Amino acid sequence: LPELPEVEIVRRGLVNLTPGLAIVKIELLRPDCVAGEAQEFINGLEQQTLHHWQRLGKYLLGKLDNGGWWVVHLRMTGQLLWLTTPQPVGKHTRARMFFTGGSELRFVDQRTFGRMWWVPPGQEVTQVVTGLRGMGPEPWDCSVQDLYQKCQHSQRPIKTALLDQTWIAGLGNIYADECLFLSGIDPSTPCHDLSRPQIETLHQAIIQVLETSIQAGGTTFAHFRHVQGMNGHYLNQAWVYGRAGQPCRVCGTEIQRRKIAGRSSHGCPRCQPKRPTKH
Ligand SMILES: [Zn+2]
Repeated sequence: LPELPEVEIVRRGLVNLTPGLAIVKIELLRPDCVAGEAQEFINGLEQQTLHHWQRLGKYLLGKLDNGGWWVVHLRMTGQLLWLTTPQPVGKHTRARMFFTGGSELRFVDQRTFGRMWWVPPGQEVTQVVTGLRGMGPEPWDCSVQDLYQKCQHSQRPIKTALLDQTWIAGLGNIYADECLFLSGIDPSTPCHDLSRPQIETLHQAIIQVLETSIQAGGTTFAHFRHVQGMNGHYLNQAWVYGRAGQPCRVCGTEIQRRKIAGRSSHGCPRCQPKRPTKH
């Protein structure tokens, strides 16, 4: 499912295409893709002009000229597709947003977990979008000290902690595995057993992996596309994710997949050795 880099790539696509355009008309083919009252969503957004797009974790936030917000979360299979010519409406089309100039932004979502919100002018987005409350800092805004403090007080495996959106916003299974490999940390290591140098390395690796992936256009899943339909190619260069049974790119040892707290984890047993605890 989309993680931070994929949502960031969708955001960059929207930033290139929509600011300055007004939403002329909205058609909700499946009104429950909107959180709250469907007609309020339509009335709130129609005739409004988009100013810019931000991202918080995996949420896309479109700021309107009138001060309101249009918030989108793609969840597992949601896609936003920018169409400049008429296209047949498929069975997974949930909503159609038509813009000045004749283009359409189409919300397609096979599993139907994706959601959109309208935040009226003058209200904080967290008042309306409850999932944004308590969300941790963006990886770029999370300091080494902050990460260190969190680890000191947690006995969970570091892999599990990295997936916790209240710790760091936007990391999912793929990039958590990748940055643990880059930092040479066994994913099952309890957080409080990590040394300060290990946490410094991990902090750098998180930023590095996310930036590499954004440059590669993200990871393409069955249901992730850029708003203009291109694919990402991060997985071609992934260190461990999706490579179980293949040789480690550094040492040649077979990459292993195992379950940690219910999630599959990929790693190299040689590059990510279990270490004696520091206690
Ligand atoms: Zn290795």
